Amino acid sequence: MSMSSLGPPAPAEDAAHADITSFAAAFEAWLLSRPAGVVGASFPQPTTGARMETMRRLMSDLFAEGWGRWGWPEAFGGLGGTILHRAVMWEGLARHGVGGMAAFEHLEVLGPTLLAMGPPEFCAQAFPGFLDGTETWAQGFSEPDAGSDLAALRTRATLDGDVYRISGRKIWTSWARFARWSLVLARTDTVESRHRGVTAFIVDLRSPGVEIRSIAQANGHDELAEVTFDDVVVPGDRLIGSLNGGWAVAMHILSSERGTFAWFRQCFLLQHLQRMLQWGTPEADGLLGDAVLDLASVGALSIDALRVHEHGATLGPRAAFTKLVLCAAEQGLFNWALASDADVIIDPVDERGLDLRAAYLFSRIVTVYGGSQQMQLDTVAKQILQLPA
Ligand SMILES: Cc1cc2nc3c(=O)[nH]c(=O)nc-3n(C[C@H](O)[C@H](O)[C@H](O)COP(=O)(O)OP(=O)(O)OC[C@H]3O[C@@H](n4cnc5c(N)ncnc54)[C@H](O)[C@@H]3O)c2cc1C
Repeated sequence: MSMSSLGPPAPAEDAAHADITSFAAAFEAWLLSRPAGVVGASFPQPTTGARMETMRRLMSDLFAEGWGRWGWPEAFGGLGGTILHRAVMWEGLARHGVGGMAAFEHLEVLGPTLLAMGPPEFCAQAFPGFLDGTETWAQGFSEPDAGSDLAALRTRATLDGDVYRISGRKIWTSWARFARWSLVLARTDTVESRHRGVTAFIVDLRSPGVEIRSIAQANGHDELAEVTFDDVVVPGDRLIGSLNGGWAVAMHILSSERGTFAWFRQCFLLQHLQRMLQWGTPEADGLLGDAVLDLASVGALSIDALRVHEHGATLGPRAAFTKLVLCAAEQGLFNWALASDADVIIDPVDERGLDLRAAYLFSRIVTVYGGSQQMQLDTVAKQILQLPA
């Protein structure tokens, strides 16, 4: 979309909101007016598609009002400010009932890297569509034989005149079915070159040769997908970072996915905790105490991560530790819920827990996305504690 179509400034565009306290107060006042988009995104939805639609409407409203543009540079459709604006916005949305970010989690996982390392002209054109909910993004890293060992990836990009042709297969690509664009890691050198021969491309998922197949999940949702690329043409300038520089792009993303993203996720976990307190039993109080402490640790670690990113830096291996603590908190929270009142979590006819059941099941696999728990432990052992191999 073009920036000239944005229309007159909305109240949220007040320049005073560059100050985070002013922004937080004004956003809270807006939330208290019970905007329709927020209310709509607060009800559990029966399908992944319905969930996505309510979130698109919410993002469209947030963009039109200006709130959703804070925290992003003006050159890319934003209004300025920092990641703290986004942290405040999602914290408020969670407190006012919005149940999660759906595909817009990639604003926080991929967005900062896209804008820091992506082609500026393309991002200036495409990023406003992400912010306003019309064109979302996906992350094409993992392959059937390249997950933990990502450097083994085989999806290949070959230069053909002034375009690249990409062929290969990605798996576990969250929200691909709903996305217009995907960041795709592809091999541009020999397989033996491992991480030194990988490049990050921007691929239009509407291109001929792209096929997306949803993967049904145990929790009833299907936001994951397998994406195949059969000789897909990508313009030669749609690179993020440099040719064969895809590994640095991936590492930049992981600082967000394992580090700052913990802030956004714990906002929603805290709401689950609040809601489930009514079903708590004294016998399970020990588990509750552990979960509360772990959530507080996630809060502290992720505020630190936000501060680092606020100043344009990345966390490096420290992000792995934040992800480990987030996993412990999320699983501990739902372990407590299960121990307190198992019916809420596992009884399919118990009306209290429709969305909690899905959240419980999802909590079992949080130790996998963004790199498995074992790989995070490995990073902490080798790169932070410097333990011998
Ligand atoms: C909910 C969810 C969302 C996801 N979204 C995306 C996405 O959007 N985009 C994307 O690209 N990927 C995504 N993934 C994929 C995810 O990144 C991979 O599943 C993950 O990196 C693990 O890879 P794998 O599944 O191939 O498991 P494997 O690498 O085969 O690992 C299997 C098991 O072996 C262990 N293991 C492997 N190697 C070692 C080792 N050297 N030392 C010790 N233990 C080891 C692992 O810890 C794991 O327990 C998602 C996954 C999930 C669960």
